[in-house]
Amino acid sequence: MPGTLYIVATPIGNLEDITLRALRVLKEVDLVAAEDTRHSRRLLTHFGIGARLTSYFEHNEAAKGERLVEELRAGKSVALISDAGTPAISDPGYLLVRRCRDEGIAVVAVPGPSAAVAALSISGLPTDRFSFEGFLPARSAGRKAAFRTVAKEGRTAIFYEAPHRLAASLRDLASELGEEREVAVARELTKMHEELFRGSAKEALEHFGAQKVRGEIVLLVAPAPEEKPAGTVREALLRRQREKSNLSMKEIVREVAKEFGLPGSDVYREALKLREEKKR
Ligand code: SAM
Repeated sequence: MPGTLYIVATPIGNLEDITLRALRVLKEVDLVAAEDTRHSRRLLTHFGIGARLTSYFEHNEAAKGERLVEELRAGKSVALISDAGTPAISDPGYLLVRRCRDEGIAVVAVPGPSAAVAALSISGLPTDRFSFEGFLPARSAGRKAAFRTVAKEGRTAIFYEAPHRLAASLRDLASELGEEREVAVARELTKMHEELFRGSAKEALEHFGAQKVRGEIVLLVAPAPEEKPAGTVREALLRRQREKSNLSMKEIVREVAKEFGLPGSDVYREALKLREEKKR
């Protein structure tokens, strides 16, 4: 029987955020694959775990992935951890998971912290729909392109960013999405200097542009504000009757209802009123 690959989340700052299940799995597995073995040895030692550690990081992913799959095929159980948070989320892991799934090896999540979800949960921005966009590009042109892709987005967009680039990113954001676009910046989550800033891009720039920003950063961009149609339903009906005389009343009603986000029956009532008035 092949072994199981466990994708184990670890704290993003506060060590109390390790889960009981993560501790048990890390104790029980045959091998722990870690991004940085020295960093992870300190974490494991803190919890009294003397696991066998091996490295698995971006640049040895292909060769090491194959070796880990061999261990799993031989019936060994492996836990994958990253330096912080959930492996495979802007961290190595995805290819190993895919390789294991292709081989029919069981992959099990041991969920826990992830900076993106932690930031979203306390941001005060809409959480019903969101997109995770990973790290922002290091250069301004790339960042601007990344911001343009979320310009008309109806979901909160989540980016990871380095502290020394935050001010430049906010500048690019303001230039692409406007100074009034609402943003949130989560800094040093779960740590001593945790901070959550929410405001317009302009306010965020005033706040973070005036200081040397330190620590780890998640930048969130609010959904694009809904564009309100100009004028009233009545005016929209009259305009269409004037400009689109080839459309039937039903078609005009459908268009106007869509534009105003109203039930067709409401717009239809208004259209009937207009027709009656014209008859008089
Ligand atoms: N896999 C991790 C996760 O699930 O959150 C993310 C790893 S990624 C290499 C590291 C980035 O996550 C940091 O550069 C920062 O943008 C964000 N991050 C990690 N810990 C954080 C924290 N405590 N506060 C704010 N952002 C954090």
